[in-house]
Amino acid sequence: MRPRGGLDTTPFGNARSCHHAAVPNLRFLRGYNDAVVLGLARSGAVTRVDLAERSGLTPQAVSKVVGRLIADGLLVESGTRNVGVGKPRTLLKLVADSRLALGAQVERDELRVVLTDLAGDVLDRAVAPLPADFAPETFVAELARLVDPLRDERLLGVGIGFVGPLDHRTGVVHDATALPKWHDVPLRELAEHRLGLPVVVDKDTNAAIVAESWRRGEEWRDAVLVLVGTGVGVGLLLDGRVHRGARTNAGEYGHTTIRLDGPRCVCGRTGCVEAVHNLAARAGDLAAATAVVGTAVADLVQLLDVDHVVLAGRAVLAEPEAYLAGVRAALPTAQWLPVAVGVTPLADDVVAAGAAMLVLSEFYGRPR
Ligand SMILES: [Zn+2]
Repeated sequence: MRPRGGLDTTPFGNARSCHHAAVPNLRFLRGYNDAVVLGLARSGAVTRVDLAERSGLTPQAVSKVVGRLIADGLLVESGTRNVGVGKPRTLLKLVADSRLALGAQVERDELRVVLTDLAGDVLDRAVAPLPADFAPETFVAELARLVDPLRDERLLGVGIGFVGPLDHRTGVVHDATALPKWHDVPLRELAEHRLGLPVVVDKDTNAAIVAESWRRGEEWRDAVLVLVGTGVGVGLLLDGRVHRGARTNAGEYGHTTIRLDGPRCVCGRTGCVEAVHNLAARAGDLAAATAVVGTAVADLVQLLDVDHVVLAGRAVLAEPEAYLAGVRAALPTAQWLPVAVGVTPLADDVVAAGAAMLVLSEFYGRPR
């Protein structure tokens, strides 16, 4: 692992991709080939011959990379595979706990930090309340307080899933909705300075869809994740990639208009999905609240033709059956347009785990 000194102002990875990053970020690795070999080993035990075939590297290059990764404790030889003619080939396995990542979810009233291994499995977590209208300095201090007991020499970095709008490429939070002290705050720089670790910042909704897509593999290509917490937002997976948009600000779906004469929203507009939903939820009208989310999801399905919908966030986890019913009732009924709807199995950890996976994504490469 590369030692870190001072602030690195280079953008963290490719803003338009996540775990499908074609070019891994070399802040973590000695080289591209190491990342490609690790990326191939991530999906299961492989032989050196498999690695050469799938990576396009020469057998000699694979041998060298594998030797290095074994010496570093990232890969281990584990059993053999018979291939008919010739001697059995040695299998190589990724050592999941050889490196770790931290992920954080920042809600308007709570901070959650999880520790994951290279497989993305959550090993530990810490949760603390955040004061109302918290300032950047308060947040970074609280983040450090939760991260410090989880520190480990195997840590690759820290991912932060934050309330948008923000710029994923620069790590600057521009105007987080309903957090007035957050205007053009260089969160990544502040957090790296305080923690002394590489940091990646993304919207909470993007982190959440990264977590879902990481779990399900590459055949899961077109999906929306609807996060209903203190606000409403969506993460978009389109054609196998997280869709962040031109300013990495896609998914502010909570602030699209669902009722022209609707209530005033924290964003300054009226009749936003978030405002109409929260008003119904606060009044205890669960049927109305879930119908708003259902209608919003049906609109997204019409617009994007996604075939998977994942519901997440505190409000959903409190009433999962009601939200599922609200969404299912609103979806198109044509049999040739099936849409799978479910609640995230990662429950309260989905954003924080996804933020850690953003760090891990930079660790794995794919063949060019
Ligand atoms: Zn709004």
